[in-house]
Amino acid sequence: RKISEKHDRVFATGCLNPEDAAKQPRANAAFVVLARNQELEGVIQSLKSIERHFNRWFHYPYVFLNDGEFTEEFKSGVQNYTSGKTEFGQIDPSMWGFPDWVDIEVAKEGIRKQGDAVIMYGGMESYHHMCRFYSGFFYKHELLDKYEWYWRLEPEIKYFCDITYDPFIEMARNNKTYGFTIAVKELKETVPNIFRYASAYKRKNKIKSQGLWEMFLEPPPEKAAEKKDNREKTFPNAILQTEVGHQNIEEIDPEDMEGEKYNMCHFWSNFEIARLDWFRSKEYEDFFQMMDHSGGFWMERVSFFVLEFANILTGVQWGDAPIHSLAAGALLAPKDIHYFRDFGYRHTTIQHCPANAPARQSPHIPYLEKTTLVEKERIEEDEYWANPDPPKENGVGCRCR
Ligand code: GDP
Ligand code: MN
Repeated sequence: RKISEKHDRVFATGCLNPEDAAKQPRANAAFVVLARNQELEGVIQSLKSIERHFNRWFHYPYVFLNDGEFTEEFKSGVQNYTSGKTEFGQIDPSMWGFPDWVDIEVAKEGIRKQGDAVIMYGGMESYHHMCRFYSGFFYKHELLDKYEWYWRLEPEIKYFCDITYDPFIEMARNNKTYGFTIAVKELKETVPNIFRYASAYKRKNKIKSQGLWEMFLEPPPEKAAEKKDNREKTFPNAILQTEVGHQNIEEIDPEDMEGEKYNMCHFWSNFEIARLDWFRSKEYEDFFQMMDHSGGFWMERVSFFVLEFANILTGVQWGDAPIHSLAAGALLAPKDIHYFRDFGYRHTTIQHCPANAPARQSPHIPYLEKTTLVEKERIEEDEYWANPDPPKENGVGCRCR
């Protein structure tokens, strides 16, 4: 689906001097880093990268969050690499773990089954808690209360290009709610119960699409009869997960998705810049509550067909990425979303490289951008920090290395 330039354009083109942008006042914003003590090294790598490419000019604060207690080693370790204020918070058990309405044994059994099915992370209890925390709680953490905006930072990520303007300020100025840099598609064959619920939420609350929802839909099959067959074939095992939650979801007809089918596309949430008040809104909270009470954070089932491919699946369980994305699809419009097509960014094996992005040349911006693995003249962070030079021909996309 294409979004025309009138909806969303790059915030700055050409070469800017970050020191000029840094003379302006800051937004009320912070980096949010969820991590474990043992990830210190990966966190430092990310800090070196974001500091080098952005924060050495802008000095935004960092909020580090952990379900456990950060060690002194972690705290002093990260402070060697941060040019902004740092705060460290422990996540209350009310935001991490099983809620009291869940049958823990049933949920654990669900997790165990996913583990048996070799679904990546599926058998790891902490991963489920992390996804749920990022879906419905991080923005309620007391250390974030004072902030209006956040930028999510994960361990072991890399930025490639100097970011020479303030993305928070530009988001605010352009009235944006949610910003992403990579949108990915999962294997179609995964059972999209997540979509059934999101779709039911939309229907129950009589929410009309403002044009973003369509981004998450398969193009409709030509004939209605074939449509039904397709669904049977693709999701033979799809059952609503009523057994974990207590909420009566009987009124949701699993077959009634208004003929729509999830294309498994989602904003890759390990990078996000967004307004916190959207997450804090009643609409988002209702959405989260409904998704949560369905039990899907622990129990997403996969069809038999999928199990054969399970070892190559990532994130088929309800990750925070599809939760954030489908909530955006239901509640936001394309004009509320910003695609940071000018940010070079890498997480694990997927990266977005502006130099290679066709969108840079085109006024029409495909949201589903093909990401590439081409790396040109990359200067690693350690190499750079050993001999840092201020960018000369600096500017967005001008200096990707
Ligand atoms: P992936 O990106 O889907 O492979 O997931 P990650 O392992 O990178 O986890 C996503 C984020 O959550 C990262 O910032 C991790 O540091 C963090 N995270 C994951 N599990 C835990 C956990 O059990 N405790 C804490 N404190 N952080 C976690
Ligand atoms: Mn990660």
